[in-house]
Amino acid sequence: MESGARPNAPAVLLQIYERLFERFGPQHWWPADGPFEVIVGAILTQCVSWNNVATAIGNLRRAGLMDPRRLMEADEGTIASLVRPAGYYRQKAKKIRAFLSYLWGRHGGDLASMFATPPDELRSELLAVWGLGPETVDSIMLYAGGIASFVVDAYTSRIMSRIGVVPAGTPYDRVRRMFMDGLPRDAALFNEYHALLVTLGKRACLKTRPRCGECPLSDICGRIGVPRDGDDHSLGAAGREESAEQATAGTRRGLREKRAKKESRGAVPFA
Ligand code: SF4
Repeated sequence: MESGARPNAPAVLLQIYERLFERFGPQHWWPADGPFEVIVGAILTQCVSWNNVATAIGNLRRAGLMDPRRLMEADEGTIASLVRPAGYYRQKAKKIRAFLSYLWGRHGGDLASMFATPPDELRSELLAVWGLGPETVDSIMLYAGGIASFVVDAYTSRIMSRIGVVPAGTPYDRVRRMFMDGLPRDAALFNEYHALLVTLGKRACLKTRPRCGECPLSDICGRIGVPRDGDDHSLGAAGREESAEQATAGTRRGLREKRAKKESRGAVPFA
């Protein structure tokens, strides 16, 4: 596996998925009305909570602009004022315009044509659009296009590095490659898996003071970099050592401490 993940990562990834699905059930992502709205939402949700995005989407809907042609015909100032609740609204309006220019220039405004492009080619095209980073592009491909392109976000990186599947600070593409190589290429599985990781990140694996005692992964998690005063209801220090060994055969205490120091300096990406 070229991702830098530990050798038994595929088995661990499936185990994590099964545990999360069993605990949280289906997440019914993405909360949007049709592929175009997913795309607009994926752009608007950069650096902001979904509640703000939902307000901005509501504004675009009420203005009758949740449509590629109508939005293409709207001027940037109008779009900016409508998406203001999503923050960075001038930049986000520009990004939406940049995507629409690409959609019309390359695919004649036809989303079906866009999503019929071979996945690697489409990913490269979208990454070349101004303002679209890998997380946004993979969200568009997976949640709007139903294409098996795994989405990595701050929650994914935090959870996977704490468990010990990848080192903290592993670049986006390597974490994504681990999922792409380690799981069946199944869009429904990728959809649910990413949504479940977000749920775990919001409910238990918090940035500070994770609630390990409430986590369905507590017995397989190395808790690498987790502050010692974390809200741990399930295991004492001895238990933590044991599960770190189970989860990260080959990972040693010195390495964990190094990573913990790194993380305390803010080295965790996408957070
Ligand atoms: S056991 Fe704790 S650190 Fe590990 S994934 Fe669960 S909440 Fe996060």
